[in-house]
Amino acid sequence: MKVIVSACLAGIHCRYDCASQERESIKELVRKGEAIPVCPEQLGGLPTPRPPAEKQGDRIITKCGSDVTQQYNQGALEAFKISELSGATVAYLKSRSPMCGSGFIYDGSFSGKLTDGDGVFTRVLKNNNITVISVD
Ligand code: SF4
Repeated sequence: MKVIVSACLAGIHCRYDCASQERESIKELVRKGEAIPVCPEQLGGLPTPRPPAEKQGDRIITKCGSDVTQQYNQGALEAFKISELSGATVAYLKSRSPMCGSGFIYDGSFSGKLTDGDGVFTRVLKNNNITVISVD
């Protein structure tokens, strides 16, 4: 069974601040050929580094006030194409992110507070019957 994973969990430095969120268990899945890392934010054309962004209503807005909803939607669709092509039925994604979070995401105030909700990529996966497991 193939699994999709957030690339930052596999040690790829694709976060907005050029950091990763490496988890050895996720890297091991990739090494064994059982998991495929994707970063939907980069697939949507966003640069690294980039300003942090959070969900505000139905839009994704950066801390500088730019609307990156289109890039988020595009990146989620491109990452979903990879998920479909690989036949993945499960995804292990980074928690809290406006793209990869599941169940809880940052509340849009850039204060570290959480609210109920899914990231943009997570929502696309769930709508297509792919099970999303939040790694944290
Ligand atoms: Fe990690 Fe997902 Fe954010 Fe990319 S979009 S940096 S994979 S949490």
